[in-house]
Amino acid sequence: MNRSLPWGWIMLAGLLLLVPGPAGRLVLDLLGGLTLTLLLLPLLLGTAALIGWRLISRRLVTCPACGASSIGMIQCPACGAPLADSGSQDAEGEVDASTATITVEAVAVDRSMDSGSSGRP
Ligand SMILES: [Zn+2]
Repeated sequence: MNRSLPWGWIMLAGLLLLVPGPAGRLVLDLLGGLTLTLLLLPLLLGTAALIGWRLISRRLVTCPACGASSIGMIQCPACGAPLADSGSQDAEGEVDASTATITVEAVAVDRSMDSGSSGRP
């Protein structure tokens, strides 16, 4: 008799769903919320994983000797070669904008080369 269906609980659930009232409405709202959560959870998890992977891959340092990737290591964990400091430059050679300094050199305009376009006689 352990495997028999709990008809009492099924009837109670059916009554709660069929009879209009706060209890039935609560159950329906609960089921709707659960369904929505189950449908949106993979999307949320996928977005979180994508953002996490982006953050992690930005800090990955590739060993110049053997090509192994590591995070936050001074030495390569695979071959022991010293890794370059990734503070200002990452593996692709791009300069981090937060630590970069742009030097602008002021150059005087040669007026003899300017052929009358400034309006002066
Ligand atoms: Zn290495």
